[in-house]
Amino acid sequence: MKMNALDAKIGQLKEYLSSGEKRIAVLTHTNPDGDAIGSSLAWAAVLRSMGHTVNCLVPNRYPNFLAWMPDIADVIIAKEANEKAERVVDEADIIFCLDFNRIDRLENLSTHIVNNSKAVRILIDHHLDPPLEEYALAFSDHTSCSTSYLVYRIAERLTGVEVFDREAAEALYVGIMTDTGNFSFSYLTPGLFRAVADLIEKGIDVPSINSRVYNAYSEGRMRLLGYVLLQKMQLIENNRIAYIGLQEHELRRFDFQIGDSEGFVNYPLSVTSVQMSAMFLETRKFIRISFRSKGNVDVSEFAARYFGGGGHKNASGGKSFEPMDKTIENFKKAVAEYFKEKQL
Ligand code: 5GP
Ligand code: MN
Repeated sequence: MKMNALDAKIGQLKEYLSSGEKRIAVLTHTNPDGDAIGSSLAWAAVLRSMGHTVNCLVPNRYPNFLAWMPDIADVIIAKEANEKAERVVDEADIIFCLDFNRIDRLENLSTHIVNNSKAVRILIDHHLDPPLEEYALAFSDHTSCSTSYLVYRIAERLTGVEVFDREAAEALYVGIMTDTGNFSFSYLTPGLFRAVADLIEKGIDVPSINSRVYNAYSEGRMRLLGYVLLQKMQLIENNRIAYIGLQEHELRRFDFQIGDSEGFVNYPLSVTSVQMSAMFLETRKFIRISFRSKGNVDVSEFAARYFGGGGHKNASGGKSFEPMDKTIENFKKAVAEYFKEKQL
């Protein structure tokens, strides 16, 4: 987002946040990741510093590797405390939607918000193609590496970054670190590294955060990863496309916990020839799909066209309501068609 576009919106944001204390709900997406939680916690700190009453809400539980984060225990998990979550939504004057842009990504909470909430809805997000008509105000920038960095830039202009104490700085760092794949994906701008320098000046301990997030896996996850790479990864289309299908009975064998398969979809891209990777994860209701790609292959468009999803150019997701074998068959047809059409 260009500097002056951002500045113009800050004026509007200030208006929404002026005239007394507001009740505010900060919402993020289903299966919240490091950026979803990190940006929410830091944004809540900004709003509290302005004197507002703030509750953070997530549709379902965050992965264990984030459980150490300061204040995470106060985050309301709708799946486990539905009444409380609905009450917070009902009572909110303002709802901030962070790190996602379609209300339908909130699962059960979506209908409740659409049907009951009269709150002003404001978006802070870095995914493509937000439905702008759903928001009174939208800070949407798909060239931001993470929502956490967007929160940093907004706070810079709204309150000044002095509002971030060490704990909020840790939350932002977690968001930036995880969404950039530890500073290896796109949109690594000089401004981002300046912001990170500022977070470090606030006293965050980078090696320690790194270790708490990346060295926090169960034995089951490690063994599941071994199984996935050895036995489940399939290469098709001249080894340009990789996919992994995991069914519930396989997951049970490895004492699967939510979040355990996080990041698996990235591994096949380490093979030189692989341009696109897909992972199909069977859950009780549907198959959750993750897509990743290198370079020009736009998996956001692919996910939207074939699997009712979306995301970013090189990282997207979707769903399938067919059984695993049919889903993979559909996938194979879809990639053949897509790669031919785009001459990839
Ligand atoms: P992941 O594979 O990590 O679950 O998701 C990768 C990216 O795709 C994330 O940025 C996420 O927001 C987006 N994404 C995942 N699933 C969906 C979906 O069902 N719909 C949309 N619009 N985006 C998704
Ligand atoms: Mn994000």
